[in-house]
Amino acid sequence: MRRPLVAGNWKLNGSRASNRALLEGLTAGLAGLSTEVMACPPYVYLAEAVATAEDSGLLIGAQDVAEQASGAYTGEVSAAMLRDVGCTHVIVGHSERRTLFGDTDERVAAKFSAAKAAGLVPVLCVGESLAEREAGTTEAVVARQVAAVLDAVGPQGLDGAILAYEPVWAIGTGRTASPEQAQAVHRGIRDQLAAADARIGTETRILYGGSVKGANAAELFAMQDIDGGLIGGASLDAQEFLTICQAAAGRDS
Ligand code: PEP
Repeated sequence: MRRPLVAGNWKLNGSRASNRALLEGLTAGLAGLSTEVMACPPYVYLAEAVATAEDSGLLIGAQDVAEQASGAYTGEVSAAMLRDVGCTHVIVGHSERRTLFGDTDERVAAKFSAAKAAGLVPVLCVGESLAEREAGTTEAVVARQVAAVLDAVGPQGLDGAILAYEPVWAIGTGRTASPEQAQAVHRGIRDQLAAADARIGTETRILYGGSVKGANAAELFAMQDIDGGLIGGASLDAQEFLTICQAAAGRDS
């Protein structure tokens, strides 16, 4: 049984005070939830977030990581630094990094490798644009993005990692993939992983992301291959996010 996970990607939002209040709201509501819950604040708040989350069970992840380990890379943050401040997870390949900051499949694979090498759990995001969906290339695009990482690290390199299917057209748009649309892509990803290694295919958690809210979470998480969510906008409201976490926990019962 894959334990559900709900992760909040806070993106470039909040202040020290507002982020602290959000974390406190989350940790207060976590008790007794069977799902894993993670928050991904901006880099500068990570160390404080780790301290605030201590003993609550809330996982703290970063939104991105350098592909390099150290050196003359101004502005970058390494995987070892993230570990050093107590992060356990890191998002790689978010569509905003791919489309706005030029992260190619190869760079995403290098970031994934860097995360693994430092002992972080990578959360690998994949997903097609609207034009790609309308052109009927969704499966091919997602398979290519997954293959880039599989080729770089091998099937065993995926052990313990998390995938997130996030159709670009659904991120921050209020337009969600239907449960059936999402399930079809999740199934395809799982089949691709299983073809490389049966255990990895069965055990890897695949999250859905793209305008998930309290109102639509349960129907998405009810699908067989959707193991939780990666949440943007709705993760900035503690009550809304906790409602989503409860919907994921309901998947277990
Ligand atoms: C995201 O940024 O990963 C995301 C899914 O955003 P939203 O939930 O706002 O669509």
